[in-house]
Amino acid sequence: MSTQGLVGGGGATSPNLKIDKGSPLWRHTTRIAQCPVGGAYIWKCNYCNIQHRSSYSRVKLHLLGPTGEGINMCLGSDKKRLPAAQIATLAKEQEDANRAVA
Ligand SMILES: [Zn+2]
Repeated sequence: MSTQGLVGGGGATSPNLKIDKGSPLWRHTTRIAQCPVGGAYIWKCNYCNIQHRSSYSRVKLHLLGPTGEGINMCLGSDKKRLPAAQIATLAKEQEDANRAVA
């Protein structure tokens, strides 16, 4: 019985991991491409499947609100606002991430 020095870590290394650290809501989108300037992405919302091009701040506004900041709030797949409970969950993910990087 030999004990190996390395513990298998799954090896799921993602190049997106770093930017996702303080930006957990990217997980609720599909990033299609990064724009060459400004750190913006072309991304698609996983709830409403609408494609946007913006930085992360707009992703937050899309999912959490408020509206009127250059992007519409998510209307989900059936054109209804996300349930308040779900928005609260997303908001908490963001809060936790803010705390983690602070
Ligand atoms: Zn959406």
